[in-house]
Amino acid sequence: MRSATASTRRTRRKGWPLSRRSGQRDLKMHEHRPTIPIPNPIKTYKYPHLLVGLVIHMDFTPTKEHQMLRNTVRSFAEKEIKPIAADIDKNGDVPKEILDRMGEMNLMGMTVPKEYGGAGCDKISYMIALEEIARVCGSTGIVMEAHNSLGLGHIFERGNEEQRRKWVPDIAAGKKLAAWALTEANAGSDSGGMSTRAVLEGDEWVLNGTKIFITNAAIGDYVTVMAVTDKSKGTKGISAFVVPTGTPGYSLGTSEDKMGLRGSHTSELVFENCHIPKGNILGEPGTGFTGAMNILDRGRAAVGALAVGIAQGALDESVRYSKEREQFGRPIAKFQAIQWMLADMATRIEASRLLVYRAAWMEDKGMRFSKEASMAKLYASEMATQTCLNAIQIHGGYGYTKDYPVERMLRDTKLMEIGEGTSQVQRIVISRAILGR
Ligand SMILES: Cc1cc2nc3c(=O)[nH]c(=O)nc-3n(C[C@H](O)[C@H](O)[C@H](O)COP(=O)(O)OP(=O)(O)OC[C@H]3O[C@@H](n4cnc5c(N)ncnc54)[C@H](O)[C@@H]3O)c2cc1C
Repeated sequence: MRSATASTRRTRRKGWPLSRRSGQRDLKMHEHRPTIPIPNPIKTYKYPHLLVGLVIHMDFTPTKEHQMLRNTVRSFAEKEIKPIAADIDKNGDVPKEILDRMGEMNLMGMTVPKEYGGAGCDKISYMIALEEIARVCGSTGIVMEAHNSLGLGHIFERGNEEQRRKWVPDIAAGKKLAAWALTEANAGSDSGGMSTRAVLEGDEWVLNGTKIFITNAAIGDYVTVMAVTDKSKGTKGISAFVVPTGTPGYSLGTSEDKMGLRGSHTSELVFENCHIPKGNILGEPGTGFTGAMNILDRGRAAVGALAVGIAQGALDESVRYSKEREQFGRPIAKFQAIQWMLADMATRIEASRLLVYRAAWMEDKGMRFSKEASMAKLYASEMATQTCLNAIQIHGGYGYTKDYPVERMLRDTKLMEIGEGTSQVQRIVISRAILGR
């Protein structure tokens, strides 16, 4: 063991604490510990009363309205979706009655202002509603999210007044369903490399190309399609168009046979000389890719909310099961191994929820939230996969069967690490932001 004297000598040689050579008093170690300057609010700030306001803004209590919204959506989800969630997964379809009911409840146009037929809610309300739907059924959650954040979101955010009045009210009321098509077979993470083309011929745009993996398109009424209008300009030559279902030249291709979210439809879209009116372009030609990236930022926090919801569902199932299941003469919840798994699951869900709400809150405040949305999606989606794995572990062999919902939850949540930008893509967005690139 090193003696105290040797240690002190070594420290002195490095010149910290102050060396005798400097002629200054040789103070004892504890006197040199750097201290965090604690400002005296009264002395430091000109308007100390503002600090009181700041403290109030950091209140984490949900508002009464948020709590009421959660209770309402939870009650609907528990009563009307949870009992059929396994059938939705098995039959590969979310019943239309459920989506109609969600429209009546204002869940299909949540953040659209009331004057355009939406609910006029803040983004946190939307996150709460997504969580509660996904908590019982991931498929219904993704249908709601792709409709609100992507299909409807792009039309509302990028549409002009005439386009908003024409399309938004029915979509926001849930009378029409919206989809959003960016991905192509050779343009996934690198979506800017798309090859679907749109050419202006007289008063019409003519679309040709194929999109893949498009949620809701098979049951939807409109799809927002990104297509190249000027190849020489790269991503600045990509535009966005609204294509109504039933337009000649627009057809559905293969439907994906997926691992999870089996109640949601994921389809290939084929455009063969598909003519749409000139006025169906959203924004100026060439602004479609920037618009799409902006929509993805919004969507990413929402995907984080779906992940939080699924994970919460898995935790709730695990808590219930661990109290009921007995081994060695006692409920498995009495075993510390199970308790610690539950504690970790709950803690990580809460951390993810805060990240999701923060990104939503920043969006509401008009702040830049791209990095925060990516952080929320990245952390929440990876957390949810691990949480569902733990939930299966807690259920033992039964968790591996379809008798319990946790295996479905795991299959459903894996998509959250892939859709709207993979975890690797989120890490690229975050690292670029922190490196200032
Ligand atoms: C169920 C489902 C629903 C979907 N819904 C829609 C929808 O509604 N609309 C829509 O437009 N799209 C949709 N998608 C597409 C989805 O957004 C893409 O699958 C996703 O962006 C990834 O693209 P990809 O599948 O081509 O993977 P790829 O881009 O081929 O990625 C393959 C792997 O390479 C990694 N990778 C790629 N590039 C990099 C890089 N630069 N650095 C490090 N790693 C990299 C990826 O992270 C991944 O691990 C959906 C997909 C699924 C499965």
